[in-house]
Amino acid sequence: MSYDNNNIFAKILREEIPCKKIYEDKYVLSFYDINPQKKIHALVIPKGKYIDLDDFISNASTDEITGLLTGIKIVAKKLNISTENGKGYRALTNVGENGGQEVPHLHFHLFGGEKIGKMVE
Ligand code: AMP
Repeated sequence: MSYDNNNIFAKILREEIPCKKIYEDKYVLSFYDINPQKKIHALVIPKGKYIDLDDFISNASTDEITGLLTGIKIVAKKLNISTENGKGYRALTNVGENGGQEVPHLHFHLFGGEKIGKMVE
C-alpha cells in the first residue's frame, strides 16, 4: 500500500483543513482529536509521509523516530498529563485493518485527564 496524499491528516499538515493545534516542531504536529474519547484526547503525528507504525519503523530516519517520541513527551507535558506534572496518560497507535486504523497517516493518540480504564474492549 502506498501513502495516500489525500488522507485527512495530510490535508491538515498542508493546512488545507484546520485543526486545534497543541504543538508543532520540525518533526511533529499535535492537535486535538475531533471526536474525543476521553477528557483529554490529543493526536501526535509525524510530518513525514508514513502510513503506520510499521512503515515508520522501516523507513523513518533516526532523527524522525527520536523527533516523534520526543514530541509525544513534549505534548504530554504541555497538557499536564505527563508523570512529571500530571497523573499519566495512555499513548496508543492503531495499525492497519485489525488494529482499527481509520486514517492512513501514522498517529499516536494520547488519552489523559482521567483514568483511562481497560486496555482493550
Ligand atoms: P484511528 O482510528 O486510530 O485511525 O484514529 C483516527 C482518529 O482521527 C479518530 O479518533 C478521529 O476522531 C480522528 N479524526 C478524524 N478526522 C479528524 C480531524 N479532522 N481532526 C482531528 N481529528 C480527526
